[in-house]
Amino acid sequence: MIVSAGTPFAEAVSMHRAGATTLAIRDRLRALGLDEEAVALLLAAVGARASDAPAPEAEWGPTPAPLSAAPEPLAPVAPSVDAPPVTFATTCARCGVFLTGTSSALVLATAYCTTCAARPDVNYPRAFRDAHWGKRDGWAWFFGALSPFIILAGVFGLLNGPSVTGLLVSFTGIAWAMFWTGAQAGRIALVLAAVVGATYNVVSGIFPNLFVIVCTALAMTNTRTKLFFEIEVSEAELAKAWLNVHANRFAQWARGFGIVSLISFLAWLGTLWAAVATTSFGAIAVVLGVIGLRTVNEQAQPPIGGKRSAVVGLTCGAISALLGAIGLLFATKLLS
Ligand SMILES: [Zn+2]
Repeated sequence: MIVSAGTPFAEAVSMHRAGATTLAIRDRLRALGLDEEAVALLLAAVGARASDAPAPEAEWGPTPAPLSAAPEPLAPVAPSVDAPPVTFATTCARCGVFLTGTSSALVLATAYCTTCAARPDVNYPRAFRDAHWGKRDGWAWFFGALSPFIILAGVFGLLNGPSVTGLLVSFTGIAWAMFWTGAQAGRIALVLAAVVGATYNVVSGIFPNLFVIVCTALAMTNTRTKLFFEIEVSEAELAKAWLNVHANRFAQWARGFGIVSLISFLAWLGTLWAAVATTSFGAIAVVLGVIGLRTVNEQAQPPIGGKRSAVVGLTCGAISALLGAIGLLFATKLLS
């Protein structure tokens, strides 16, 4: 029988070998969260296991305390303050094995055994991180592709005579190229170029370049860009980024069509075009919403969400389709 160290059974066996009384073992097993049936089973197994232990060297040597020893009064076992966050009573959320402090791992606040926690379908935030770690993302390519043109513009500006603008534009181009290389200094240079550029613009009475500021802010906060620069990101942020890439597309499209169908009803209120557009967009939203709802599987690993989006799409779509159909009926009545 193979027993990994740290299971309630292994602990019961070691307690028994150390001379603990049945009552003490029973109390410990109860403290671990096992029910009466499991405690009784384990105690019986401990008895069988104890007989496997090497026999005492001498017949008159000390014999281990029998399991049927008279109960002794014992103080209730208080939960240890130093207890690991995952107790023995916890089981793996995927395969159900008992977990110990050393054989368990938390993924999104759920306890798994280390084997299950290593699976990409369970630890999808980790899989997302590993897939994008040190790899150039869209923002890196965006700044990298634009940088030669910005540098050229700056250099041409400087050729016409020394100017602060020429220097700033050149610096911005160099910063963007540095960002593309993935050097940590590239992130600092990117922010510095945007801040110095905006400050100079404001001081000289020009409206700051919003395009540069917005792109810089988005790139600095993007999860995949952080992973490109090999910056550790929280598990929650990784999970969110994963969902953005792999979410329930039907539900997302349903919500989009549902909202567009309502807008088109309001935008062209009373026209035949509005009635046609609203009815068709609404019907598409309803169909996508139904598919989206059927796709939702929160128990799946990784989970498939989008319930709220699907319901929003379905509701907006149904209202629009109804309103559009009434509009079409009116229109046909008026035409005839
Ligand atoms: Zn497991």
